[in-house]
This record gives sequence, C-alpha cells and structure tokens, in this order.
Amino acid sequence: MAYMTNAVFRDDAYLTEVDATVLAVNDRGGIILDRTNFYATSGGQPGDTGFLTRGDGSRIAIAATVTGETKNEIIHVPAIDQPLPEPGEKLALSIDWPRRHLLMRMHTACHLLSVVCPFPITGAAVAEDDSRVDFDLPDAGFTKEEVTARLMELVAADHPVFTRLITEEELAANPGLVKSKNVRPPVGTGQIRLVCIGENALIDSQPCGGTHVRATGEIGEIHIGKIEKKGRENRRFRIRFGALPAQ
Ligand SMILES: [Zn+2]
Repeated sequence: MAYMTNAVFRDDAYLTEVDATVLAVNDRGGIILDRTNFYATSGGQPGDTGFLTRGDGSRIAIAATVTGETKNEIIHVPAIDQPLPEPGEKLALSIDWPRRHLLMRMHTACHLLSVVCPFPITGAAVAEDDSRVDFDLPDAGFTKEEVTARLMELVAADHPVFTRLITEEELAANPGLVKSKNVRPPVGTGQIRLVCIGENALIDSQPCGGTHVRATGEIGEIHIGKIEKKGRENRRFRIRFGALPAQ
C-alpha cells in the first residue's frame, strides 16, 4: 500500500524544521512520515539531506529523499548504520538548509535561463555548484557573456517568484506554458502547480514541483560557465555561481 505524505515544502520552501509522526519504515529501512519539509528527488532537483531528531535527542542522519510507489509517498533514506524509528514515533525534521538554499537559488536560475533562451528544454539537472539545462537548439547564436548579462539583469531586477494553481483544462488551453519537450507535467490530480516570475507572472510561468527562492535577487551572482554542443540539435548550458571568470 502507498502512504500519503503531506509535502509542506510545496507551500513553503523555507521550512527548515518541522515536526512529524512516523507512518512506517519500509523493508529497505526507508522512513515514511505523515508530513515532511524534505524535498524528494524529482524534476532534475536532488532530494534533501539532513537529520531527524528523536524524543531522547538522538539523531537519525538522512542521506537521500525519494518518492515511493506514488509521488505522494516520500521516503527518507537513512545514512548507513542509523537507528530506525518506530511507527507512531514523533520526530523533529531538520533539512540541510545551506545545501537546500543553494539548490533553490540554482533551480530558480534555471527558470531564468529558460526565459533568456526560449527554446524547448530536453533535460535539466540542478546541483549545488553547477547546474545544466539542455535545449533543442541547432546553433546557440549567442555567447556565454551575452547570456550571463541577460541572466544578471533578471537577477538584479529582483522579480518576485510565486506559485499558482491552475486546472488541467487551463493548462490544456495554454500549451505554451510547457517548456519541456520530453517531460509532461503530471496530470490526474486536477490541478497543476505553476511557478511564476515577475509581477502578474509577466517574466515567466511554467509547471514545476521544485523549490525556488522568493525573489530573483536572492539567486545572487551567477554566470554561464560553458555552452556545450551535445549532438547536432542540442546545446547544454552550464550555470555556475559567482562572476564570469576573466578570459
Ligand atoms: Zn522549478
């Protein structure tokens, strides 16, 4: 049977600590809770790491977070040789916030890149220090200096970032919202979560289940480290933190 975890990071990506109750521990030692602030690996964003604190103050280190049989079942994977909690036990959940915040800044930067480069996305992977977005694009046509300058304009403008729910019918009526060429947003729940950037979503809106910063200024300084050719019709853009290194 599949369990339901209330994914509180969807409504508030800034919850560093929450309390939860253990629903089950699966046969591979994965811990399933009634609610969690741990993001589960999905959509190119890695899951959270951190620790769970037991009533006696001892900690269970969490090495990864993944989804189970359904997207609503979130499994906290303990590090090696950790004690396992009992069903019904109450725990305090702490994510590795410095790492998560880097991932939120990088993930939001990937959205900005899709604004600067409005081409179909064929793949993406967010990491703490280097993220990539692949575009269906035969020729980049612009340099990393140009793309970096456009990205930093959007960061400096400190546009708000917020989510909005729309119906599947609204999404079907606006196919342009979907930028990913191969991945369709999950349907069946009746609602689609849009991540919007700018007043009235003037800069961008697209379906996404990840975690993002509240405003583009929080991303800080970023640059395009590389534009790589990946096959005849694919270009891979790498985003890194900090200023563009001098040539
Ligand atoms: Zn996103």
